[in-house]
Amino acid sequence: MRANRRADTKPEVELRRALHRLGYRYRKDYRLDLGTAKVRPDIVFTARKVAVFVDGCFWHACPEHGRRPTVNEWYWEPKLRRTIERDRNGDALLSAAGWRVIRIWEHQDLPTAIGAVIEVLEGGSEHMSDRR
Ligand SMILES: [Zn+2]
Repeated sequence: MRANRRADTKPEVELRRALHRLGYRYRKDYRLDLGTAKVRPDIVFTARKVAVFVDGCFWHACPEHGRRPTVNEWYWEPKLRRTIERDRNGDALLSAAGWRVIRIWEHQDLPTAIGAVIEVLEGGSEHMSDRR
């Protein structure tokens, strides 16, 4: 049953391609079971325990573009709030389980996004050997 799986977004695909070209191997849309909740980061480096999310500006309320709709507020407000709460909860659970979490806004340019991921990946120099 994959019919309602969300489509990959362009920034997500570009970031994955770029990381792949740089020699990084990862799993995409990999579901992590954290006991009380399941999270599905967009890009997961299982060996290094690094989870990357590429967040849409609207749904995840980016400070620059995540302006709340002024029509049908009663409808949007709780939906958007739930998304943000779920993000925070997921981040907290991941951190508690020893994961490093990277959140990238869909509006960030590719070099910035790649830089952010690589910085975290290479931050733990003891794991350099699993780079292919
Ligand atoms: Zn944005």
